[in-house]
Amino acid sequence: IRNRLKDPSLFKEQAFVNNEWVKSSADTSFPVNNPATGEIIAQVTNLSAADAEKAISAADQALPKWKTMTGKERAGLMRKWFDLILQNKEDLAILMTLEQGKPLTESTGEVVYGASFIEWYAEEAKRVSGTIPTTIWGDKRFMVLKQPVGVCVAITPWNFPNAMITRKIAPAMAAGCTIVIKPAEQTPLSALALAELAVRAGIPKGVINIVTADADQSIAIGKVLCASPTVRHLSFTGSTEVGRILMAQCAPTVKKLGLELGGHAPFIVFDDADVDAAVAGAIASKYRNSGQTCVCANRIYVHQKIHDVFVEKFAKAVQAIKVGNGMEAGISQGPLIDQAAFEKVERHIADALSKGAKLVTGGKPSPLGGTYYEPTILDNVSNDMLITYEETFGPVAPIISFESDEEVVKLANNSQYGLASYFYSRDIGRIWKVAEALEYGMVGVNSGIIANEVVPFGGVKQSGLGREGSVFGMDEYLELKYVCITL
Ligand code: ADP
Repeated sequence: IRNRLKDPSLFKEQAFVNNEWVKSSADTSFPVNNPATGEIIAQVTNLSAADAEKAISAADQALPKWKTMTGKERAGLMRKWFDLILQNKEDLAILMTLEQGKPLTESTGEVVYGASFIEWYAEEAKRVSGTIPTTIWGDKRFMVLKQPVGVCVAITPWNFPNAMITRKIAPAMAAGCTIVIKPAEQTPLSALALAELAVRAGIPKGVINIVTADADQSIAIGKVLCASPTVRHLSFTGSTEVGRILMAQCAPTVKKLGLELGGHAPFIVFDDADVDAAVAGAIASKYRNSGQTCVCANRIYVHQKIHDVFVEKFAKAVQAIKVGNGMEAGISQGPLIDQAAFEKVERHIADALSKGAKLVTGGKPSPLGGTYYEPTILDNVSNDMLITYEETFGPVAPIISFESDEEVVKLANNSQYGLASYFYSRDIGRIWKVAEALEYGMVGVNSGIIANEVVPFGGVKQSGLGREGSVFGMDEYLELKYVCITL
């Protein structure tokens, strides 16, 4: 890996605690592989639960000084970190593509997107303001302060190895919190490279700590992070299943929680839609990152009047997607992250076909082998098929026809999830009504891509708790304190 980077020192295989690069106390490591080739590209230190305790103490010891710095001082350091990330964006993107598999252009896009949270929250660090409610008790005055929650932890997934970390670290740091991050075992390299740049930016020791571990040790470390009374906030992005476990593990210490869990996004194309725009939006929403995002379109509802024309144009666009190693130019879809992901895609397709779905294109592993899968469209999909209610996390688009607005809104809302939703229409009345009726945290209208740092990202129902990004994302890391003063 080192010779592929302009700055080889961004490649790290040790964990990062108290601004030091550390090995696990047992001196064991776990392999990180390149999903595009199956090659092992790194051996990263495998920390234990006891090692994670040390990271919590480092964060705890750093807290008093970090939280009493001014917001402006913290902002200055964060701004330096942001600049260094952008200066090193090519190397960070290469590391990401090698460990995660997404095309290099997508990795570069993610590095810039990830950095945007650091820039935005550095600016917000100066704008944390309490309030002074007007008194209703003559001799008393009231004030409401906003103070950092304290030591935070974050457990993050492999599908966005950079941005899911910065989206949590940045508001935490800006608010005056210190943090311990446990990146996904598949993609620790992006996280460690960010830590190296944080040192160079002058972020004080203990403010950011990164604990690396394999799948088994991650479970043990998760228990310690959840059980620690020192830790006051847990932010998790990942599956609903693991989110429930972490929530339960945090109950005894009553932590604040931020959960960004699974989704099952409906994507509705009404009969007045601009079909070309809807096709472009569906491609962007469905096939980005090989369909491995929690906001990917999972159910494409098309009005029966435009069904045939939509399917024809959509199929043409899907057939133009170039599958391959993301390091190569012109590739728009990389491999799936691992064998389990590949098998889930196969299972969803087989189940749908056995229940009467019609294969429009794809439907089989790519001739490239490994975990590459052909971008797929299934038509004639019905609501009894697994793919209409389980998250696929792969490059498969199921198409379902509908006739009326009432029917499609009801179908769209029939989910335990409530993260992202999308629809295409040019009718202003319909846009208002449907946007209000969808039980989702986010609605893209005539847009298949919706996330950025200034808007609140998050879901309702079993898609999670809280919001990330925007001014609202900062509140997750702040506690209100009410002070009553008798004059
Ligand atoms: P995905 O399905 O996207 O792999 P997971 O929810 O399994 O998502 O994993 C997301 C993150 O949660 C990863 O960092 C993983 O190591 C961690 N994780 C998985 N299971 C547990 C657990 N029981 N306790 C703590 N962390 C866990």
